[in-house]
Amino acid sequence: MDNTALFKLGYGLYVLSAKDGEKDNGCIINTMIQTTQNPLTAVIALNKQNFTHDMIMKTGKFNISVLTQEAPFEVYTHFGFQSGKTVDKVTGYENIARSDNGIIYVPKFTNAYFSLDVTDKKDLGTHTLFIANIVDAVKLSDVESVTYSYYQSNVKPKKPAPEKGKTVWRCKICGYEYVGEELPADFICPICKHGASDFEKIVG
Ligand code: FE
Repeated sequence: MDNTALFKLGYGLYVLSAKDGEKDNGCIINTMIQTTQNPLTAVIALNKQNFTHDMIMKTGKFNISVLTQEAPFEVYTHFGFQSGKTVDKVTGYENIARSDNGIIYVPKFTNAYFSLDVTDKKDLGTHTLFIANIVDAVKLSDVESVTYSYYQSNVKPKKPAPEKGKTVWRCKICGYEYVGEELPADFICPICKHGASDFEKIVG
């Protein structure tokens, strides 16, 4: 089996947001799929380590903001590379608005947002699959949606190759570099929290 075949799958990038009492939070996901038209439903798969995961388990409600090609790297670092468990990503952040369900969405660098109510869920081990009704849909602009491959090629900062003879393991999500010949199998990126399988070996 060639796992690099998985890189040929296409994905968008979205800010997933939820609200639990007075607590707001949002994170970046690449798994939002419209599944049926009538009724209008969608699924998302969400890593259980995300703070937003526990909020949605509890409230059954979330918003999805669709990021565009104009979204700068800062939007990804803000929502994706820090945890709502330790950082308040919402208070004082300028690119935030609130939809009719009371949950935040991202009004800038996005072209649409959706409000969803969870109808079912499936435990997938590391992730939960949430099945949800789309209860509101708002178009914000006609700027093209960003794809994961566009993010990799055009948004994520380019890093120079390591010095000759040195080996680094570079996180494909955020660019963090681990210096060493072997990357521990249980290594977790300290910036974006992705695992060892999201690192590539680069030899200088
Ligand atoms: Fe990372």
